[in-house]
Amino acid sequence: VSTWSNVPQGPPDAILGVTEAFKKDTDPRKMNLGVGAYRDDSGKPYVLSSVKKAEQILLDKGLDKEYAGITGLPDFTKSAGELAYGENSALIKDKRLAITQSISGTGALRIGAAFLNAFYPHAKKVYVPNPTWGNHIPIMKHAGLDLEKYTYFDKETNGLNISGMLEDIKGAPKNSVFLLHACAHNPTGVDPTQQQWDEISQVVKERGHFVFFDMAYQGFASGDCNRDAYALRKFVDEGHPLVLSQSFAKNMGLYGERVGAFSVACADETEKARVESQLKILIRPMYSNPPIHGARLVSTVLNTPELKSEWLDEVKFMADRIITMRNKLRGHLENDFGSKQNWEHITNQIGMFCFSGLKPEQVDKLKDDWHVYLTRDGRISMAGISSHNVKYLAEAIHNVTK
Ligand code: PMP
Repeated sequence: VSTWSNVPQGPPDAILGVTEAFKKDTDPRKMNLGVGAYRDDSGKPYVLSSVKKAEQILLDKGLDKEYAGITGLPDFTKSAGELAYGENSALIKDKRLAITQSISGTGALRIGAAFLNAFYPHAKKVYVPNPTWGNHIPIMKHAGLDLEKYTYFDKETNGLNISGMLEDIKGAPKNSVFLLHACAHNPTGVDPTQQQWDEISQVVKERGHFVFFDMAYQGFASGDCNRDAYALRKFVDEGHPLVLSQSFAKNMGLYGERVGAFSVACADETEKARVESQLKILIRPMYSNPPIHGARLVSTVLNTPELKSEWLDEVKFMADRIITMRNKLRGHLENDFGSKQNWEHITNQIGMFCFSGLKPEQVDKLKDDWHVYLTRDGRISMAGISSHNVKYLAEAIHNVTK
């Protein structure tokens, strides 16, 4: 018998499976609303102009391809930290932010999970929102952490169940670890308001919990990178101990370049040095050191004033296109097709995704009768909608929900 005859067939990835089915469909009206990657109004992947210019600058410099250090390129991590925490953050000024480059957001989460598993002095368990990004669960488990879910989404309102969330935070044993999506929650598109964040911060503090922020969409929610960092910066100001995962996949359109950062807010400079030394020891056997090209791109954009300002406009442009599609989709449903359902959540939700409330059977009908593809939890990737097909999508949704 073959050495691998005992290897069972694994299930396909839920999201990539949607794309495979989409590719097989030959109908010209077909729509892929599965994958969370930005598309322009003609449905094409979008390389940001600021990034293209940075790429040209790098090419002209004729840089070598030597290894980066274990924690990546210092110019990159410095600017990533400033973007997240703010240029005037006391954490940065006091030199107590331990930060490392990572293999995008996924890699940052994985480093963070390994760090907590190795050094977090209380229960090695992470509370994640219900629902959360599907990959959070295996990432945490892979690093040896246990998981539990906290109340988040309210199916009745397609919004946030803030009282349930606060209760679960209160009810968890003291010093628990809570994973919070900093903005543009995936898959629901539902974020706490600033006032709700303040309440969450309060309760987290009362219970002595620890926060793991996942910020994969800074700028993509409101179009404003500072506004989207509200929760993170509020928690820092309130003196919470916390760690952060950052990704530049969405806000710089660098999906395949795999650029991200993981950081730990430390008490002082010597603690920071100790933490960084251990991050290096965790990273070295995982992948030795990170890829350099994407980090060079990000650091060139963030450290070249004209490119930075162009980039900020481009982030806003992407966020605004998505917001426009939300308004159009809801408008067509209510005004053109006279849907009697409540579609307010389409415009209340924020970021890349709309948690539509569509049932699995309705999702199947969208696929079979309308050639519209999304995950069976009803999550619509708003970036897959354009001004050319938004009305068709509204017609399809109206037909499967009426
Ligand atoms: N966290 C969340 C909530 C996400 O939605 C994503 C991207 N889908 C990530 C992390 C990480 O993505 P990447 O590894 O591509 O940066």
